[in-house]
Amino acid sequence: MVLRPPIQVQNEVEGPTWSVPSRRSRRAMGLLFCSLVALTASLTVSLVGCQQNGGGPVAVWPKILPSPLPRVSLGAEPTVRVRIVRRALEVTLGSGSDLVIGPVASQQDLASAQRFASPVVISHDSRGFVIRGHQGVRWALDALRVESASPITVGSVVYPQMLVIHPSSVLGKVDVVNHVSMESYLPGVLEKELYSSWEPGTFVAQAVAARSYAITEHYKHSKLAKRFFDLESTTASQAYVGLNASSRAREAVAQTRGLVLSYKGRIVPGYYSSCCGGSSQDAAIAFPHGPDIAPLRGLRRAGWCHQSKRYRWGPLSREIDALGRRMVAWAVKNKHPLAQLKRIVQIQVTKFNRSGRPALFIVLDTTGKRYSLTAESFRFACNANAPGLGKLKSHAKLYSSHVQVQVVGDKVQFTDGRGFGHGVGMCQFGAEAMAQNGIDPAQILSYYYPQSILRRAY
Ligand SMILES: [Zn+2]
Repeated sequence: MVLRPPIQVQNEVEGPTWSVPSRRSRRAMGLLFCSLVALTASLTVSLVGCQQNGGGPVAVWPKILPSPLPRVSLGAEPTVRVRIVRRALEVTLGSGSDLVIGPVASQQDLASAQRFASPVVISHDSRGFVIRGHQGVRWALDALRVESASPITVGSVVYPQMLVIHPSSVLGKVDVVNHVSMESYLPGVLEKELYSSWEPGTFVAQAVAARSYAITEHYKHSKLAKRFFDLESTTASQAYVGLNASSRAREAVAQTRGLVLSYKGRIVPGYYSSCCGGSSQDAAIAFPHGPDIAPLRGLRRAGWCHQSKRYRWGPLSREIDALGRRMVAWAVKNKHPLAQLKRIVQIQVTKFNRSGRPALFIVLDTTGKRYSLTAESFRFACNANAPGLGKLKSHAKLYSSHVQVQVVGDKVQFTDGRGFGHGVGMCQFGAEAMAQNGIDPAQILSYYYPQSILRRAY
């Protein structure tokens, strides 16, 4: 299929250019590993003003502070902390060389590192870390640092560089975090976020977006110092599969080393999602304290992504009671006032962004209370798991918050669904179609992040 470029692309890029890969006619295939970037953030901390009985906002939920974006000149390549295991009873580590396990830097005076032949099984209980199979090895430390002369295997996945094991927030379980330099991290992101058959140019554009996003997350969480990781290794941040990356992924990262999206001297978080459906969302609407800057504002777009199965979707019909239970379960988990919801009477979209995407949903219940939800919070609430209800099948989910909604009897009807994911920033199916048409990765990035400039951060 030949896709005509329906827009004039303005190239505002300064810096390097790439050799454009030979154009191959490929159809985008199947369902992409949807990169719902920053989904976790939206799940746990969407910013909503609560309105009850039609009154003005009575509560700001939740209270979090905005974080400035990092300046472009980082100087050195950052090391990111990627959580690769969450809440495991135990982890099995392997390596071609001995594993060197010991305290993290802040606790080096409390214990000495020891060498272990792999595999090693580590767990944590009320008295500290336990190395199973090695009698007497127990450490009452805050975290364990794990290194080896060879890459370390966790389960079946091989990771570069260093691991740190932390007690999980759930007693008796552990989290594992890969501390990895940015350029070693990114190939394992591209590998999972794109189809292996996609154009080299799409990989190049994705490398810059993923780097820009990861740096801003790293900067934010390092500054906040509230958690021991910057990114999840799932679509909650961006998917990551360690060292298991193709040459196409590795080359795209190498070609763009240190390159980031910038705007007014700051690094732009390179949000992206699977399919924008022809119109993009504002970061400031989709994410708590998402920056309100030109590269991340919603715009109407040409339908480059129409090859995605989710370019248009629906209609969907959901039972009103079950939908309400899912919304309440989501609200309880996220401490949102919607937890008080009774039977749904009406759902309305009360605000749209400039591209026509819903920005704010109001849910009205039988008691007359009105609950407001940002677009992404609404989607997550509709798709949430709830006690006594099975996991929603894929075809019953809202793929995006770009949808029309109406209560009809005991059903909620969703019609005219558009796109897959939050719709902020780069559209992966659109980028692939542009690359198939020979459009340069720099131009693709310029199209999806208007007014951004490519610069080298290190
Ligand atoms: Zn799109």
